[in-house]
Amino acid sequence: MSKWQYGFTKATETPRALNLTPLKDGKIHSDVFFSSILFLAQALHLKNYDLAVGARATRILTEKGRVYGVEVMDQEKNAYVLRAKNIVLSASTFETPRLLLHSRIQGKAIGHYLIDHAALKVSAVVGFQDLPQVSGPLHILVPPTRELPYQFLIAKVGDIPDGNAEIIMRGYGTVEPRFENKVELDPERVDEFGVPKLNVQYSYTPRDEETIRKTANTMEQVLTALGVTKITEDICLRPPGDDHHESGTCRMGDDPATSATNRFGQIHGYPGLFVADNSILPSLGVANPTLTTVALAIRTADYIASKEGGI
Ligand SMILES: Cc1cc2nc3c(=O)[nH]c(=O)nc-3n(C[C@H](O)[C@H](O)[C@H](O)COP(=O)(O)OP(=O)(O)OC[C@H]3O[C@@H](n4cnc5c(N)ncnc54)[C@H](O)[C@@H]3O)c2cc1C
Repeated sequence: MSKWQYGFTKATETPRALNLTPLKDGKIHSDVFFSSILFLAQALHLKNYDLAVGARATRILTEKGRVYGVEVMDQEKNAYVLRAKNIVLSASTFETPRLLLHSRIQGKAIGHYLIDHAALKVSAVVGFQDLPQVSGPLHILVPPTRELPYQFLIAKVGDIPDGNAEIIMRGYGTVEPRFENKVELDPERVDEFGVPKLNVQYSYTPRDEETIRKTANTMEQVLTALGVTKITEDICLRPPGDDHHESGTCRMGDDPATSATNRFGQIHGYPGLFVADNSILPSLGVANPTLTTVALAIRTADYIASKEGGI
């Protein structure tokens, strides 16, 4: 408790744990002031680089199985070639496989194994009159277990007169990664840059549906235990992608038959071509993915730097 300071955000008054104690070199443990602009500024101290702002990548350029650059376009659709020995794609679970497929980069798993949580939601009114104290902000997270492959979050979203409060409960269940869930290029529709649009195929297995049913049942039990007085929005299954956690379309792994990249994020068979975004996650638990993706991206950066003999 001693070294952790607690900050409060004005909007919700939710306490946040921030460790602002300086390290011996002056940095602080939880850098809440971090931004990507600061990161770029720090990088300038290490080495000069060019930054192409507003450039839209349209194709990855390869020769004899090795990448040598990226074709980009500006807003006026003028095309340029950016040459590089190493290319790292961080364009998202949809855009990264789209670029790879459009560039005819070979790989059985590219675009496949699209995955997201099965996300459920319910809104209700709960009476807090019988509680011994005012509830304050309410954020409860019930984590998954081996037997219960889902988590749920309960949050108070507003007070209602007479000691009632409106709550939202969200349940997130695991979904099996499957080859059949995929994105692929639409042979007939292209965007304004001439890149084919994507078609998406996504469905649930009987096991996924069982997880969804269990999650809904548990949510019902929790609502009963909370003594809800009114359901304002029934338990419903949200559309895939609703939580922006979609992943998996360039999953990492050792086997090129079932994965798009190796363990360092390099596309199998294409030295110098890397992926560092949510698409490399081979499976998705029930929690938010971004910290894992960032950790893997740092690992990939370290790998490239060590391969190149450091920056
Ligand atoms: C409101 C909101 C709240 C969220 N909260 C959380 C949270 O609390 N925790 C969590 O873990 N996750 C959260 N997420 C999800 C998180 O934002 C994503 O998991 C994460 O951003 C995915 O990272 P990514 O690198 O895969 O893709 P993105 O963040 O989408 O990055 C892709 C980038 O590539 C650019 N790009 C795409 N195509 C091209 C192209 N052809 N040429 C050039 N540039 C291109 C895009 O403009 C974009 O900047 C939240 C998302 C939203 C919308």
